[in-house]
Amino acid sequence: MEAQMTIRYYSTNRRVKTIPGIAPFAGSVSFKEALLAGQAPDEGLFMPDTIPTLAMSDIIALREKPYWQAALLVAQSFLSEEFSPAVLEEIVKDAYNYPVPLEAVYPRAFILRLDQGPTASFKDFAARMMARLMSHSRPEGERINILVATSGDTGSAVGEAYKGVAGIDVTILYPAAEVSAMQKKQLDTIGGNVQAVSVDGKFDDCQNLVKEAFSDPELVRFNLSSANSINFGRILPQIVYYVWAYAQLAGAGEEVVFCVPSGNFGNALGCEYARRMGLPVEKLVMPTNENDEFPVFLATGRYAKVSPSRACISNAMNVGHPSNLARFFELYGGTVDRTGVVHCYPDLGQMRRRIYSVSITDEQTRRTIRSVYDRYRVVLEQHGAVGWAGLESYWRETGDTRLAVCLETAHPAKFPDEIKNLLGIEPAEPPSMKGLARREGEAISMTGNYASFKKYLQSRLKIT
Ligand SMILES: *Cc1c(COP(=O)(O)O)cnc(C)c1O
Repeated sequence: MEAQMTIRYYSTNRRVKTIPGIAPFAGSVSFKEALLAGQAPDEGLFMPDTIPTLAMSDIIALREKPYWQAALLVAQSFLSEEFSPAVLEEIVKDAYNYPVPLEAVYPRAFILRLDQGPTASFKDFAARMMARLMSHSRPEGERINILVATSGDTGSAVGEAYKGVAGIDVTILYPAAEVSAMQKKQLDTIGGNVQAVSVDGKFDDCQNLVKEAFSDPELVRFNLSSANSINFGRILPQIVYYVWAYAQLAGAGEEVVFCVPSGNFGNALGCEYARRMGLPVEKLVMPTNENDEFPVFLATGRYAKVSPSRACISNAMNVGHPSNLARFFELYGGTVDRTGVVHCYPDLGQMRRRIYSVSITDEQTRRTIRSVYDRYRVVLEQHGAVGWAGLESYWRETGDTRLAVCLETAHPAKFPDEIKNLLGIEPAEPPSMKGLARREGEAISMTGNYASFKKYLQSRLKIT
């Protein structure tokens, strides 16, 4: 192996001088520091200052190997200065103990199913590795307390990911009246080091409680941390499945197309990094639902967020200003802040060469679920169907016949009513969803009052 350079992490806002009340962070931090802080002090997103490269022979050697070996290859290339090989191996083996199916739709087009983890969505991949990296990044002898506000799915992915992880406790706040009965069951019954708190209020009330706790000096001693989606520790694991899928399907050096149904763009960003690490991704197809700010930007060169965001059936992608757009802009030479203000436009020509995007309506999404099932007997749910519809649109426009892989980001059994309506079948539940009804556990109920939430944290959270 070549000598490794230490990778440092800088902020996407480091040059922005015009955000009121915020001083640009011109310094850099280690991976562990970026992991524990979540976002940069200037509210920018952390970016690695060097992107390591992978040798094609190392990629191809992953063919028919277990998934964790791909995770180890990617993790070592970024993290070997900060974690020992033995620790990284332990982390990835423990995180990736479930299958990663690749399903042929026809000989040159595949679905990569990222739905076999504990909460049946692709978010399990990132959350499980991040949880274990955090456990190994704790200050010596101290515990970390994660606080998450959730409107549903993210909370259970995070909670399940941290379950049983040494030295970390998790408190999940959710709005009592805004989660489904199934989501409530999922959140309340994780158990062990993960406690659900049911708040009599809205999602915003949950978020406000968490925000206030983070800025409360009397709670600093509890090492509060978040597990939010902008953490670079959640991006890194999302590089892995592109590398792994490539090794299973492609010949050495063969150009491929990946298609990623996108909301906050964290998943697609993993593919952008994989390409920059040397994976021959000719085109990254990033379909969105009716929240079309990005395809409109690629077409016109002007960026305007969609506000308020539009409510589509692919509800995990209802995002009017993707948080990871700041990282895409940065990689193509531009700057956008978290409010959607563009400070410097990226190289649009480069972006158009590498990325294709299109907005898919709910009607097209439903039609795609039906037609893919009728033609190929492949069951997609609404997020994956946005992806497939976008890939078909790309094919129609370009006639590209390269090997293509489209990601399915959730299990169809998570949306039984939609699937039943459209296809007249009940999708079989994956092992992770079976037995949920029999699980037991109670949330703690609370009002949106900060003083009582604080009292609860002080009485319950542990320091060591
Ligand atoms: C979060 C999510 C997405 C969107 O992923 P991003 O990384 O935010 O673009 C797509 N599908 C499902 C099922 C999700 O949960």
